Amino acid sequence: MSCTKRLLEPRPPSARLLAAALGSCRRFHAETVRHESRGLPIIHHKKYACELPPNHRFPMEKFPRVLHFLLGDQVITDKQVWAPEAASEDSLRRVHTDDYLKKFLSGKTSEPEQRRTGFPWSEGIVRRCRYETGGTLLAARLAQQRGLACSTAGGTHHAFPGYGSGFCLLNDLAVAARHSASAKRKVLIVDLDVHQGDGTAFIFKEEPSVFTFSVHCGKNFPVRKQQSDLDVSVEDGLEDGEYLATVEAHLPWLLDSFRPDLVLYDAGVDPHWEDELGRLRLTDHGLYQRDLYVMKTVVSQGVPLAAVIGGGYSRDIDKLALRHSIVHRAATQVWREAGL
Ligand SMILES: [Zn+2]
Repeated sequence: MSCTKRLLEPRPPSARLLAAALGSCRRFHAETVRHESRGLPIIHHKKYACELPPNHRFPMEKFPRVLHFLLGDQVITDKQVWAPEAASEDSLRRVHTDDYLKKFLSGKTSEPEQRRTGFPWSEGIVRRCRYETGGTLLAARLAQQRGLACSTAGGTHHAFPGYGSGFCLLNDLAVAARHSASAKRKVLIVDLDVHQGDGTAFIFKEEPSVFTFSVHCGKNFPVRKQQSDLDVSVEDGLEDGEYLATVEAHLPWLLDSFRPDLVLYDAGVDPHWEDELGRLRLTDHGLYQRDLYVMKTVVSQGVPLAAVIGGGYSRDIDKLALRHSIVHRAATQVWREAGL
């Protein structure tokens, strides 16, 4: 474990009392929201997905299937679904270099650059990434207004300012964090994807208003790690109990000492035992307990939280999409219990 960036003195434990925290959550209701549903906002766009070459290993079909299961299992209604706009070039420029954006948006990235991302360039992939980033921006905005919001995509934490990497072309978490930080809000990024959020860590290493916290499998991608503000590297094969204890050991003191105005939560499901690219041993139940713990802990302190689904890899798309829907199911429970 390593920790950089200066933190404040912890708040007294009494500040964590649920009753007091729920009182502070009510301030979200004062904001004007033009939408017919008062339910948990779910951010989704059909352009989150695009065509890929046959037999490509990235499970692109998972995005519409997540929404399909949430609606089909009556976890949410279609009135809760918000459609984002594509992220503007201006918002992308807050994180990515002009040179990279010019190349990526117009299809001028080289063969080796494309290979590093894992995707051949296409207009569809550009559109998908821009809508996905727009979705995370909207989730952050709605979380500020309502306390909690979840996208059905997002978590592209391997993208750097000047290049894409590991299935990540635009860093949606970084764009959303920069946007909030520019409005003088402090942002805590809780990245529980099994891979280190190296792009995000690099982008914010010198930025005091954004704190990056990553729990990841040390032996997994990327081989060359960056330094997050707090890195917790875990061993292969970690199971539910130990994993949850690791998260529980850090999240409360981070909230107390950094005192964020917004939490961006990457709820990657690749720590699951069946994941094709993970090396940990979490179960569905373990992921549900993890998501519930993170969101309950943050929301009960009156801090808004926007969740994205992060990584998850399986050839069985329905199984994978159901696994990704765990975070929305847990968020629904938190939403109800907190009376948001
Ligand atoms: Zn991952």
